[in-house]
Amino acid sequence: LIKFDNVTKRFGSKVVLDNLCFDVSSGKHVTLIGPSGSGKTTILRLLMTLMKPEEGTIKVGGHYLTHEEKGGKLVPAGEKHIREVRKNIGMVFQQFNLFPNMKVLRNLTEAPVHVLGLSKEEAEQRARELLELVGLTEHIDKYPSQLSGGQQQRVAIARALAMRPQVLLLDEVTSALDPELVAGVLDVLRDIAHTTDITMLCVTHEMNFARDISDDVLMFDAGRVIESGAPEKIFSDPEHERTREFLGAVL
Ligand code: ATP
Repeated sequence: LIKFDNVTKRFGSKVVLDNLCFDVSSGKHVTLIGPSGSGKTTILRLLMTLMKPEEGTIKVGGHYLTHEEKGGKLVPAGEKHIREVRKNIGMVFQQFNLFPNMKVLRNLTEAPVHVLGLSKEEAEQRARELLELVGLTEHIDKYPSQLSGGQQQRVAIARALAMRPQVLLLDEVTSALDPELVAGVLDVLRDIAHTTDITMLCVTHEMNFARDISDDVLMFDAGRVIESGAPEKIFSDPEHERTREFLGAVL
């Protein structure tokens, strides 16, 4: 469902992703781990088309995100093409980025109505189901500022799912939360991982969570995948010295 093919991303002379290749199959949950600065967030930002790679191609759902096919040739993707492909991708950020001037319900219905063209009734029905899923039904009429950070993050997760994306990108979604609020958010994500068929690509420092939900873990170092495999293998018996060092420091 997601395919990175020889993707290189540079900032000035600094190579952040170095000829990166990896695939994520439909319905899989893949976690990216690795030291700070190894390029994990850059991957999610490329998928959100917040930036473009200097080299290589990225595909989502069989379509190029970086390019489009015109007259049998690959040309750099235009805005319209990017918008279409990006509809398949939902993202939850470290900072929740809710619309502060809208109540919870409207935070969840705004994009489905205006981007997907759902009727208000359809969008509200779906929003109610999602608020139940994230355990926030009773907060439907509140503004984000009236909720705790953990509750806001659960709204942000529901808002991403309201667009019915094929892929959910999670970028250190618990890092900005007070420690006592982390578990509630991770429980909701575990639930989603175990009960839906959504594909997840997740950057996290929560190694127990990664172990619980991941089909595959990719260990990054300096813009490359240095080791990948099932969480049981990576966490218990890593092959690479660099992975052992990293896990030794964070576990
Ligand atoms: P962390 O775990 O700390 O979030 P990460 O693995 O997600 O790290 P990235 O955020 O992808 O790492 O960053 C990789 C490298 O790219 C870092 O060295 C960072 O300083 C650099 N970088 C990221 N964004 C930019 C930018 N817009 N301009 C210049 N350098 C950048």
